[in-house]
Amino acid sequence: KVSVKSDIEIAQSAEMKPIIQIAEKIGLTDDDLELYGKYKAKISSDTLSKIQGNPNGKIILVTAINPTPAGEGKSTVTVGLGDAFSQLGKKVMIAMREPSLGPTMGVKGGAAGGGYSQVLPMDEINLHFTGDLHAITTANNALAALIDNHIQQGNELQIDQRRIVWKRALDLNDRALRNVIIGLGGPMQGVPREDGFDITVASEIMAVLCLAKDLKDLKRRLSEMVVAYNMEKQPVTVSQLGVEGALALILKDAVKPNLVQTIEHTPALVHGGPFANIAHGCNSVIATTAASKLADFVITEAGFGADLGAEKFLHIKARNGDVLPEAVVVVATIRALKMHGGVGKQDLNNENVEALIAGFDNLKKHVQTIRSFGLPVVVAINKFISDTNLEVDTLLELCEKEGVQVALTEVWEKGGKGGIALAEKLLKAIESHTEEYAPLYNVSDSIEEKIRSIVQKVYGGKDVEFSTKAKKQMKDFEQYGWDGLPICMAKTQYSLSDDPSKLGRPTDFTVSVRELKPSIGAGFLVALTGDVMTMPGLPKQPAALKMDVDEKGNAVGLF
Ligand code: ADP
Repeated sequence: KVSVKSDIEIAQSAEMKPIIQIAEKIGLTDDDLELYGKYKAKISSDTLSKIQGNPNGKIILVTAINPTPAGEGKSTVTVGLGDAFSQLGKKVMIAMREPSLGPTMGVKGGAAGGGYSQVLPMDEINLHFTGDLHAITTANNALAALIDNHIQQGNELQIDQRRIVWKRALDLNDRALRNVIIGLGGPMQGVPREDGFDITVASEIMAVLCLAKDLKDLKRRLSEMVVAYNMEKQPVTVSQLGVEGALALILKDAVKPNLVQTIEHTPALVHGGPFANIAHGCNSVIATTAASKLADFVITEAGFGADLGAEKFLHIKARNGDVLPEAVVVVATIRALKMHGGVGKQDLNNENVEALIAGFDNLKKHVQTIRSFGLPVVVAINKFISDTNLEVDTLLELCEKEGVQVALTEVWEKGGKGGIALAEKLLKAIESHTEEYAPLYNVSDSIEEKIRSIVQKVYGGKDVEFSTKAKKQMKDFEQYGWDGLPICMAKTQYSLSDDPSKLGRPTDFTVSVRELKPSIGAGFLVALTGDVMTMPGLPKQPAALKMDVDEKGNAVGLF
């Protein structure tokens, strides 16, 4: 049996350079940085505006097949691909999301890449980093407190306390807080009402921060957020409460992107972290744009499979900023494809070519979807030590038969060197591509048509059905003039359908939309499907059980 070092062990034995030296690679000096210790910095707002006139670099988007619970190695491939571009002598920057403590303590462990393809300091990035998620939590809850105070102090806006849609937030998985009653204890303790908590990454404020172009745009978006309905069933916004200034103030530093480095010292912006199943799943427009102004190539990632993160990148994020990718990487692992082909978790280490062939349909669907947007695709096989030569050769052949470019990628084991083949294929794909990007729906389509387009064209489903509540909401939203916004689907990440047990390439399924949520500040409508929850719970064996800290303060067991 080979002994394999854990992510945290590799991260702790890697040597970091002072972040100022990393900034020099992209033409920045210490005047451009706000230092958070020696190895982390935010890019100053003056610098962010100064670089706006620079030409745009080429953006490469990393996405994946439907994942297994541990993830498919998208972040790992994103980081390793950035290092591969560095090794090829290209001026490159990585732009990825910052982790949430919910999944870190829960199933997933860290989210800063893995093996020899990680961003550093891995433990700090996974814990409190530069405090952005705390700031977003605070802004979210400040707004909640201001709403309740408004009601307590006479309720001038006539807010119907049964129709408050703004929830409280916490950056943890805590199912006991999904539904709560607040304000108990008599007249001095507020007005009792039903409330609930979302995980911070599902807060509209996270989406607003990730889609805003700058602080001014952030404030405008905050002001447009809908928090409740009044007794006449008309929407009540943050601007009516007059608190967008206070919220923007709480977020003034969180809105600046965070610069860190990979193990191989490639500069990386790690900023903003919505999940792709219950939110839009992309790092911030500010960071992606800054990276594209500072480097010739930007490697960025969108969460979960191409049915979630990439669809939302291409329909939501791309509409909000000048960040269209020139090429897309679809990450696949042989293990996950075998699971899609019917193999149980316990048997993944055994060779099984038949299951791999059956599971390939999942990858094929995601490749077709990206192609239907008019973008070139390269498949990255994220190689695990347990993959056999026969399995690898089979997958390479299957891809070639489909006419899709494919590269065996060994960045987890070898760092950037393991991603050179992928980088070279991408450079060729970008050079030879002539088709134009086209969205799969128009924002001017009706809400129902937009959702149906996503279900049929991206998920490969038969149709979509709406609950009575969702039907009523569609009518109301049209009246409020919100029907011209793009859609943010909330759906399980494990399946192309809304049923997490349907692996592979399900067909003939219907997706049910149970509820819609307006995110007017973010600029989209959320459609909740299946049983997906905006406050996750912890699993039976949470990752937290393995975590510790030694006497010197070093993290132990952080994946
Ligand atoms: P995703 O971004 O798709 O969620 P990550 O890149 O975060 O996935 O990887 C999830 C976990 O899987 C990490 O702990 C990482 O170290 C591990 N991992 C990724 N690729 C490999 C690989 N090729 N071999 C072994 N472990 C891997």
